[in-house]
Amino acid sequence: MSLPADGHLIIVGAGLAGYHAAYGVRRHGHRGRITIFGEEIRPAYDRPALSKAYLTGAVAEEDLLLDDPQDPLEVDWVSGLGVVGLAGSRNGTEPLGVRTADGAFHSADAVIITTGASACTLPAASPAAGPQEWSAAIRPYVLRNMDDALALRDTSLAGASVAVLGGGFLALEAAATCSERGAASVTVVAGEENPGAARLGSPVGQAIRTAHEARGVRFAPPTRARAVRSTLRGHEVLLADDSSLEAQVVICAIGARPRTEWLLGSGVTLTQDTSAVLCDDTGATEVPGVYAAGDCAQWASHSSGLRPVGHWQEAVEEAAVVAAALTDAQPAVLQEPYFWSDQFDLRIQGAGRIHLADTTTVLDGSPSEGNLLVSYSRGGEEIGVLGINRLRDVTRWRKTRRIRTTAPALAA
Ligand SMILES: Cc1cc2nc3c(=O)[nH]c(=O)nc-3n(C[C@H](O)[C@H](O)[C@H](O)COP(=O)(O)OP(=O)(O)OC[C@H]3O[C@@H](n4cnc5c(N)ncnc54)[C@H](O)[C@@H]3O)c2cc1C
Repeated sequence: MSLPADGHLIIVGAGLAGYHAAYGVRRHGHRGRITIFGEEIRPAYDRPALSKAYLTGAVAEEDLLLDDPQDPLEVDWVSGLGVVGLAGSRNGTEPLGVRTADGAFHSADAVIITTGASACTLPAASPAAGPQEWSAAIRPYVLRNMDDALALRDTSLAGASVAVLGGGFLALEAAATCSERGAASVTVVAGEENPGAARLGSPVGQAIRTAHEARGVRFAPPTRARAVRSTLRGHEVLLADDSSLEAQVVICAIGARPRTEWLLGSGVTLTQDTSAVLCDDTGATEVPGVYAAGDCAQWASHSSGLRPVGHWQEAVEEAAVVAAALTDAQPAVLQEPYFWSDQFDLRIQGAGRIHLADTTTVLDGSPSEGNLLVSYSRGGEEIGVLGINRLRDVTRWRKTRRIRTTAPALAA
């Protein structure tokens, strides 16, 4: 379905994918109205620095804004107003539009859902642990939006003991930042011995652990956190192996969940396991005129494992594909999947379909040197690389691997 030339486009979610979808639609010449609803009070901003340079004060809020004040997008931004419902039906008979939290209905010719994800928190303590062990007052810090990052940035960490729950990049970035900000101790509670080893291979997991330990970060024996309770000195994290850990500051970085609760009962299908919006590889849902992109969406090529979920580049590319589909423009040229992470002085970059590899080979460097180049292959064909402080190698690999479809054929 394409958007009529003077049609009204509504974008729900003023984040990375929402901004880039509007940008793409305008770039393809759409002259009609575009309204972007964002529940946050601030203009659309970029998130990666929230777990890194923003926490150390190296970048300010205005550095992260997506819209360029010198050349602003021609859109109606509606900030501080969440969307609570979607109207429209699979057979296209019900008028399309959204309902906002103030009760108003806004009709549209097309709707793009870009509501991102929210940080997972620990479940309430089990009855065995006792209900007194979990209360709203003991909410660990999370890192998903600017308010979360502001709360952590404004917390004094000098001399504090910090526990970071989770072994993904977000958790490790938070651990590195707390250490750089003078925490007396930083302990990571992760499910594996060498964080990232299961996904990226043991040389990478070892390199990451070695780099963190060399800078004073400690790793608890592999386990998961199950609850947090307050103590006289701060907090106690109860662990799945029945041990516990005391810390003055607790940061929970155990994953994210699509923000799709407002779509329950609408015509769009949500995936059973993650509640993401189910789409084809143009971002189209089962409701004509309704598309989804970014962290809230699951495209067909995600479910077949061909594209990753939850990375910056993926959100930008999906937004570009949706913009092209809505305006009947040439499909966007896509790159191989890509992610990066900054931890201390390490820049970790991964490109390609690493998660599908059957073989991992270290090409150069060593885990103990904080300098590593790793190749991933499947059936003998190289399908990805990862570099730690190997900017030039990873850039060169990405340049040679541009692809044109949203669902690249998987190497046999
Ligand atoms: C702290 C952090 C660090 C990251 N670092 C990296 C990194 O180093 N490398 C990398 O590759 N990726 C990184 N990412 C991932 C990347 O930033 C995300 O993939 C990207 O932001 C997803 O964009 P999005 O538009 O889908 O969601 P978001 O950017 O989260 O935007 C969604 C917006 O929709 C709003 N919204 C939600 N529900 C509603 C509603 N009902 N009505 C109105 N508005 C609503 C939300 O408030 C939010 O503003 C990081 C993410 C985070 C959180």
